[in-house]
Amino acid sequence: MNSPDKLLLWDIDGTIIETKGAGETAMNRAFKEVFNLDADLYAIDYSGRTDPLLGRMLCEFYGIPDSPTNNQAFVNAYVRNLSAILAESPATLLPGMPVLEILANRSDCLQGLLTGNVQSGGKCKLESVDAWKFFAFGAFADYCYDRNELGPKALEIVKDDFGVAFNQEQTFVIGDTPRDVECGQHIQAQTIAVATGKYSLGELAESEPDFLFEDLSDTEAFLAVLD
Ligand SMILES: [Mg+2]
Repeated sequence: MNSPDKLLLWDIDGTIIETKGAGETAMNRAFKEVFNLDADLYAIDYSGRTDPLLGRMLCEFYGIPDSPTNNQAFVNAYVRNLSAILAESPATLLPGMPVLEILANRSDCLQGLLTGNVQSGGKCKLESVDAWKFFAFGAFADYCYDRNELGPKALEIVKDDFGVAFNQEQTFVIGDTPRDVECGQHIQAQTIAVATGKYSLGELAESEPDFLFEDLSDTEAFLAVLD
């Protein structure tokens, strides 16, 4: 098999799936469980942030000390609640996501995750739509507060685990928020923004992605970007 010459790094929420607020509800429940306080994730600017950062932001917002122990307790409770919620009400795939299987079967593509989710949370979300199997690896946000650290982490995993180096033209970061675009620009990758999350086409355009889609339902148009 030829080695792949395209690297695709996918965001999860708002890009691949929609969870109908499961993540937000799980965070609020986790905060209540761990700190015995009614929190409202919607009170903070949470899109595109990493899970541990959301724990820190909620702690700051509600005046709770953000220690590593508190943060880990929050993240653990979050994943436990997320898993229970998704078992009742699974995530749904966004338009065009059959493309994940097409890409997973192409020997010229290496497909991974680049996400603010902690690994157990991301796995739980993608398994609920049977899409976890399409990714060869992931750069997850366990113990990570800055999404921009995840791009270099992804490239390091690719080099160490797959022995392949991709140049900037061969690396694509796909996401639904200006923070995904910024994270891709941080590693000089090609950035593909898709307006299936909370941001409109116009809002995403301001972050100057290389490619911008309303959704990814036009598989041919999306695949054309890679070639
Ligand atoms: Mg997202």
